[in-house]
Amino acid sequence: DFSYARGAAVLTIDLGAVQANWRSLRDRLHGAACGAVLKADAYGLGAARIAQALAAAGCRHFVTAHLDEAIALRPHVPAAAEVFVLHGPPPGLAAEFLAHDLTPVLNSLSQIEAWTTLAREEARRLPAVLQVDTGMSRLGLSPAELVRLAEEPSRLEGVAVRAVMSHLACAERPDHPMNAAQLARFATLRRQLPAAPASLAASSGIFLGPDYHFDIVRPGSALYGIAPVAGQPNPLRQAVRLDAPIQQTRRIAAGESVGYGATWHAPAPARIATVPAGYADGYLRSLGNRAHGYVGGIAVPLVGMVSMDMATFDVSAVPEAALGPDASIELIGPHQTLDALAQRAGTIGYEILTSLGSRYQRRYL
Ligand code: PLP
Repeated sequence: DFSYARGAAVLTIDLGAVQANWRSLRDRLHGAACGAVLKADAYGLGAARIAQALAAAGCRHFVTAHLDEAIALRPHVPAAAEVFVLHGPPPGLAAEFLAHDLTPVLNSLSQIEAWTTLAREEARRLPAVLQVDTGMSRLGLSPAELVRLAEEPSRLEGVAVRAVMSHLACAERPDHPMNAAQLARFATLRRQLPAAPASLAASSGIFLGPDYHFDIVRPGSALYGIAPVAGQPNPLRQAVRLDAPIQQTRRIAAGESVGYGATWHAPAPARIATVPAGYADGYLRSLGNRAHGYVGGIAVPLVGMVSMDMATFDVSAVPEAALGPDASIELIGPHQTLDALAQRAGTIGYEILTSLGSRYQRRYL
């Protein structure tokens, strides 16, 4: 449905960049399989389109968070590809995984019981991943639970363990002591089920080095161009840009204010441009008076608070000729990366991407 999109800002999603990023991550591995995390509609960029592009590049392991995301994704990936569901089967819904050829991550004894019960009913072994918590304290079996399961294999009867996995808490900071601590715990725990492949690293974990790669890696953010290592140059290609058409310009006198709360006053006569992107579109309210847009490479400060559907820029520095009816303001792009914009808002690129919403015109390259 494109009715919302007419006149809206243009969100450009570069599928070639996503493919190039996936290949560059894969090329860092020494035999491990490179999956792709497509939860939350591929971080807001469109799971079906991203999946098709990555499948064409050779990806065969796709990861979602929710069952229904995975059901929606399944038709867009090759039949031979595996689709993992991080949250595992919600109560009463284990059979849905079989119906849609999905592999759950089992995070608790009750999820394991649901899966082994289904396997008994089906009289066959059913694939699943076991998650063990090594320090996130979020999802997964406790280390003691995993050890007990390994000691009593009957409790895993009917489960074809496709992988043992865990998740790193601080991987974007290579010198953080949590990384080595979680690696050590995971290396010990995976030996409990030595025949099963292992998976620990997401995007940043890949950059911690081969010790962290194991058999399958699960990058998400790096595919979309988010920097994997804090404070270091980003080796990945930007996959998104956002350009908003100028709806209206106006001249205001020195001392006049702009926007809700009158938080910005023109220090001198100024020209203000309004664009149709606001906090309902992931152009976060916390960017007010803190970010820039760019018109033809000229920086234009975001002035005043961001509204629900609009933002306002001081375009006084832009020559008149560049502010014609087709003029637009680059909100995310070569002059201001997603990561740089996120930093201005005191957040991370993930949050902006997943907040972009459905009101933009989407252009896939
Ligand atoms: N694996 C798990 C368990 C996750 O929760 C996530 C996302 O948060 C990822 C992999 C992908 O992480 P990233 O986007 O940092 O690569």
